[in-house]
Amino acid sequence: MAANRVTVVGSFNVDHVWTAAALPRPGETLAGRYHSGPGGKGFNQAVASARAGASTSFVCALGADSGGQLARALAVADGIDLRDQPSDAPTGTAGIFVGSDGANSIVIGPGANAAMTPSFVDAQRAAMAESAVVLVQLESPVASITRALQLAGEAGATRMLNPAPANVEVPTELLALADLLTPNETEFAALLRRHGGDEVDAASLAALNDELLHTHCRRLLPHGTVVVTLGAAGCFVSHAPQDLRGDGLQHYRVAGEAAQAIDTTGAGDAFNGALAAALARDAQRPFAQQVKFANRYAAMSTENAGAAAAMPRLADVIGRFGG
Ligand code: AMP
Repeated sequence: MAANRVTVVGSFNVDHVWTAAALPRPGETLAGRYHSGPGGKGFNQAVASARAGASTSFVCALGADSGGQLARALAVADGIDLRDQPSDAPTGTAGIFVGSDGANSIVIGPGANAAMTPSFVDAQRAAMAESAVVLVQLESPVASITRALQLAGEAGATRMLNPAPANVEVPTELLALADLLTPNETEFAALLRRHGGDEVDAASLAALNDELLHTHCRRLLPHGTVVVTLGAAGCFVSHAPQDLRGDGLQHYRVAGEAAQAIDTTGAGDAFNGALAAALARDAQRPFAQQVKFANRYAAMSTENAGAAAAMPRLADVIGRFGG
C-alpha cells in the first residue's frame, strides 16, 4: 500500500445538457441552449481526488468513439492514471434537460460502463495494491465493484463505497465489504429501507436527533464508518466503536462551509474524491479534519458550473481556507 494514492473504479459519461424555459412535456419540442462536458460519478470523483492532491488511478470502461477519446485526453490533462477496458458499446452518456427553475430530467445511457467486467478489475490488482484508498460507486456493474473492494481488502486499502445513485440496489455482500460508506440523504433513506428495516423520510433526515441517526448508521454498517452528507448543512459522521479514527467520539456533525453556490451538480462527487485524497495523504489525521477538508472542497465545487470541470485545485482550497 502506498500513501497518497487513490484508485477510483467507476463510470465515465459524456453529459449532454439542454437548458430551456421549461422541461419538455411528452410530444413537445422546445428550443434551448446546449452544452456538453465530461461526467459520470467515477470520473468526477477521480478528478476531485487528483485535484485534491492524491496520485489517482481511474478504472473504467470506454467505447471506441469520441467520448472515449475525450476521457483519455482529460485524464492526461489531470495527471490521472487511466486504466480503461475497451468496449464495443458506446462510451456512457447522459441526456440532461434543465428548466429555468433548475429542475431537471435525466436519461443515462450506461453503454460501456455496464460492460466493465470483474476480470478487468482483477487485472488492475497492482493499482489497488499500491493505493491507500479504493473508492467505488454504483454506476458500474455490482460484480465489478464488489471485486474491486475485495482486492482492496486483500491489499489493506481503505474500502470506500459511495452508494450512488439511490435507485441501485446495494447487495448485503457489497455493504459488508465497505470500511467507509458515504450516502447523501436520499441514498441513506433508500439503504435504511432495504437494509435497516427502517422507514425514514430523506427530506427530514437532517432534522433527526444525532442519537437516532447514529443508531440508524450502526444498523447499516456495524463494523465501519458512515458519513451522511447533508448538502449545505455538511455531514453527520458515525463511527463503529472499534473505528473511532483518532477523534474519540462515536458520532458528530461537521458543519458545511459557506459558498456562493451556483451549481451543486457533482458536489457529492467532489466530497467523495476529496475525502479519499485526504485519507490517502494522511490516515493519522483525526477523521473530523478530513471531513472538514472534504466539506471545504465540495463547497468550492458548487461555485463553478459543471461536474468534473467544477472541481477546484488543492492550492485554491488552501488559498481560501488555509492548510
Ligand atoms: P450532498 O450530496 O448534497 O449531500 O452534498 C455533498 C457535500 O457537498 C456536502 O456534504 C457539502 O460538503 C457540500 N455541499 C453541497 N451543497 C452545498 C452548498 N449549497 N453549500 C456548501 N456546501 C455544499
